[in-house]
Amino acid sequence: MELLAPRTWADALAAKAEHPEALPIAGGTDVMVEINFDRRRPEALLDLTRVDELRDWAREDGLLRVGAGVSYTRIIEELHDDLPGLAVAARTVGSPQIRNRGTVGGNLGSASPAGDAHPPLLAGDAVVEVESVRGRRLIPIDEFFTGVKRNALEPDELISAFLVRPAPGPEEFAKVGTRNAMVIAVVSFAIAFDPERRQVRTGIGSAAPTPRRATDAERWLEVELSAAGLWEAPRPLGDHVVAHFSELVSSAASPIDDVRGRAAYRHHALGVLARRTLAWAWDDYCRS
Ligand SMILES: Cc1cc2nc3c(=O)[nH]c(=O)nc-3n(C[C@H](O)[C@H](O)[C@H](O)COP(=O)(O)OP(=O)(O)OC[C@H]3O[C@@H](n4cnc5c(N)ncnc54)[C@H](O)[C@@H]3O)c2cc1C
Repeated sequence: MELLAPRTWADALAAKAEHPEALPIAGGTDVMVEINFDRRRPEALLDLTRVDELRDWAREDGLLRVGAGVSYTRIIEELHDDLPGLAVAARTVGSPQIRNRGTVGGNLGSASPAGDAHPPLLAGDAVVEVESVRGRRLIPIDEFFTGVKRNALEPDELISAFLVRPAPGPEEFAKVGTRNAMVIAVVSFAIAFDPERRQVRTGIGSAAPTPRRATDAERWLEVELSAAGLWEAPRPLGDHVVAHFSELVSSAASPIDDVRGRAAYRHHALGVLARRTLAWAWDDYCRS
């Protein structure tokens, strides 16, 4: 297996253009598992760990630009105030060792329906920045996941960063697994409020071929909140509001039966997560 080890972003893009078959490796927490279990035998690996540019994050024009190589540990330690939903999700990933090595860029690269970074990125309306020697593209997160473990990258492209607004309001994430740590989500859910724009956004994980939003639930809740004047004068939500939101979120999923859970259980658990995260996030808003 050939190892390409660029030291700059420009060299990494040139290497990917010359060797589109080369498999990028960042933290290696997905790639090395696949190689060790002989599920994948790439002709070449493109090691991105020496590329400093990928490890930067910065504020640009009101947005956060977070390099693809920023680890979960750094998201938790450095970005928990700006990206609380993503930070909660990051805390649930693997173990300290996996969080130290694993990156959000790698999660996007794998594009697993169960990737824990995906629901908060969907709820946060993130944009994925990808680049090749041909130029840079900004892909809205809603268009990034194209199928089971497939994403919108062209063979010569690499993920450079994701762009997202610092949370304009409360955000929450919750996940159900078979135990509390080192577990792939059976189902997960994220919610984000944007009080200024009167918007609600969501993200569902592990309950459809790709991570996806529950758009009907979002629109319905926005109308309910506006009609009752709750954005301006927040007070606890009625039980019927929470229950109907939970039903709409559950019906937005199209899960399968697999070793981690049955489809019917996933529908049920997703409804429970929707109810809980809505209650937590709305409680935050009422107290803010
Ligand atoms: C024990 C264990 C527990 C885990 N627990 C969780 C969990 O709880 N939740 C969860 O979501 N995941 C979990 N994972 C999976 C994994 O840790 C995550 O998906 C992580 O985000 C992968 O990041 P990485 O940097 O290690 O990616 P890598 O393994 O280096 O790469 C993953 C994929 O992304 C591609 N890639 C990486 N960087 C780029 C780039 N810049 N441009 C283009 N493509 C790129 C690679 O080619 C590869 O296809 C776990 C893995 C292990 C081994």
